[in-house]
Amino acid sequence: MFEKILIANRGEIALRIHRACREMGIETVAVHSTADEDAMHVRLADESVCIGPPPSRDSYLNVAAILSAATITGADAIHPGVGFLAENADFAAMVAEHGFVFIGPEPAHIALMGDKVTAKEAAQELGLPVVPGSDGAINSEAQARETALSIGYPVLIKAAAGGGGRGMKIAHNAEQLPGQLKTARAEAKASFANDQVYLEKFLATPRHIEVQVLADGKGNVIHLGERDCSLQRRFQKLVEEAPSPALNADERDTVGRLVVEAVEKLGYRSAGTVEFLYENGEFYFIEMNTRLQVEHPISEAITGVDLVREQIRVAAGVSLGLRQQDIAFTGHAIECRINAEDPFTFTPSPGTVSDYHAPGGLGVRVDSGLYAGYTVPPHYDSLIAKLIVHGQTRNECLMRLRRALEEFVIDGIATTIPLHQQLIGDNDFINGEYDINWLEGFLSRTQG
Ligand code: ADP
Repeated sequence: MFEKILIANRGEIALRIHRACREMGIETVAVHSTADEDAMHVRLADESVCIGPPPSRDSYLNVAAILSAATITGADAIHPGVGFLAENADFAAMVAEHGFVFIGPEPAHIALMGDKVTAKEAAQELGLPVVPGSDGAINSEAQARETALSIGYPVLIKAAAGGGGRGMKIAHNAEQLPGQLKTARAEAKASFANDQVYLEKFLATPRHIEVQVLADGKGNVIHLGERDCSLQRRFQKLVEEAPSPALNADERDTVGRLVVEAVEKLGYRSAGTVEFLYENGEFYFIEMNTRLQVEHPISEAITGVDLVREQIRVAAGVSLGLRQQDIAFTGHAIECRINAEDPFTFTPSPGTVSDYHAPGGLGVRVDSGLYAGYTVPPHYDSLIAKLIVHGQTRNECLMRLRRALEEFVIDGIATTIPLHQQLIGDNDFINGEYDINWLEGFLSRTQG
């Protein structure tokens, strides 16, 4: 097992990884920008190294500084966390070339799944159902027309290198197609320096359902059930729950099995998530995330498995000790992402937290680096806390979530807590009846 792990990230996720290391008796090295000197992940780590000024490109994305920090502190392995370098195949390769272990999958798998066109081709070969669309990239307007005609309008034009919902354009009919194709290509080129696009059938009312897997690269693969992440605003997830209120036991079993078979065939190692759109009882692969995800704690809550510990163990070459039959799914879990943002306008709200009190009690988990007196810097993602609540039933989970949100005090800055309070009082949410468009509608209804 590793003796020392460098955590190449910040905020609540750095803290999350630190906690797993601590429990395993592994020392931690925090890296931080000058804006994060007082951050909790830096305070709690055994050692810390400043890797640059506030902008991410000069610090948390500064590969040379991170590798130097690992060298001078004598770390054995590097955990990339979520975001920043977590899905950068070149970084994963460089970590290995410098003699450290990358806590994640093989660089080739990161690269394969990082390009949407190759990912979709791979998914198809691995036996996963995909959204009907073009075979690979679209090379001409004529090819786009022909494909759109065969799959039927409306169609979505997506960037091969896309991410975060950027570079997607809808064409409702043949007249709109050439214009939207041009715009999508131009946006893809500007955002990702890659103008490859592909075509997909546009699904009107799907849910976003993703399956969590764990694999050791030695033939042992298990799934930890699904998460429903349909509550999104501008393609950003706000609330996630597990299990999905939309699936029955058969569907759960079928999709879990399909994903396990696919991941096994791929020869994948580490934690990963296979994302689907789900509509009218059918699953359609959209992408695979080759890393830990922000919403991983809800899967931990319903299975009792520590995903980060397992990630570290398999990276160290230990075989997965868990078999599918060892995984018992218990109760229901919901995560609320609490952002330093105005709950109505979503304007970022960095600043000093004057008072802080986290909720507790049975079934309540808060992953956050906040404390009274801490200043949320303006340079990074606005996620400041995750409230994860577990109950024996979905109803119990909702009751507990309501009281936990009431208890939560974050003063001095605006947060999305009031929005979550409003959301969990809504009947559609209470009944689990929502698709990926629902939250935008709710926001325009309630916040005009
Ligand atoms: P990104 O990597 O940009 O997040 P995804 O392919 O994961 O791109 O899609 C992001 C979101 O876009 C999905 O969660 C869903 O809300 C929407 N989306 C993607 N593909 C389709 C589709 N074919 N039809 C309808 N909505 C889609």
